Amino acid sequence: MKKQLLGSAITLIISCLCSTAWAATGTTAAWSYTAPTDPENWSELNSEYELCTSGKAQSPIDIRDAVKTEVAPLTFTYRPSTATVLNNGHTIQVSSVDAGSITLASGDYAFVQMHFHTPSEEKIKGRAYPLNAHLVHRNTAGELAVIALLFEEGAHNPTLEPIMAAMPKEAGGIALLDTLNVANIFPAIRSTYSYSGSLTTPPCAEDVRWHVFSTVMQLSPAQLQAFQALYPMNARPVQPLNGRSVQVSG
Ligand SMILES: [Zn+2]
Repeated sequence: MKKQLLGSAITLIISCLCSTAWAATGTTAAWSYTAPTDPENWSELNSEYELCTSGKAQSPIDIRDAVKTEVAPLTFTYRPSTATVLNNGHTIQVSSVDAGSITLASGDYAFVQMHFHTPSEEKIKGRAYPLNAHLVHRNTAGELAVIALLFEEGAHNPTLEPIMAAMPKEAGGIALLDTLNVANIFPAIRSTYSYSGSLTTPPCAEDVRWHVFSTVMQLSPAQLQAFQALYPMNARPVQPLNGRSVQVSG
């Protein structure tokens, strides 16, 4: 147990050092998940991060009291593509320019990238899960739609395996993925919770359309540990609803 704790502490220190080094390149400002640059202080770090505190429609949220709607489940047209796997100093990010799109009532949004948080940022009725994936999509007007998938520990997840195997250990590291097929990561039942929120990282920009799958997926303890060895904790706490409603489809 002590060894594990020590390992986590060392990983944390290394990832913090890497984040700082990454920030020094000017790619991103120095925010993190640990004091003094943790979520509570993001808005103090840069004037462009003001919404992280002042925003009234922030993400993630604790999903409860969802309203049933007759809205059809989201549809998608993904296709196999090549992708890059980047350790960006905050998470592992898998990007592709040709992976397809989703269609919402508001139109089409092309897949941009997916990344991971541990523990899950979204909660369902107060419960967090060990991991979540966020699939970021953008329409031609630059508006964002994000799909969230929750994972619990259980069976080995073959879809995640190539990503886990390619994860660069150091911030700034990048690897290539021969084939990414985003559709394979989705559950068979496509019921989602939807609401209007924000980016969960600085600058915390709002007007993001969120869809959180209600079906929880599985990954093996070894797969979870592989991610947590790089990022032991990279989740923003849940934010107040401030009167927003959550719809559940399907
Ligand atoms: Zn995210």
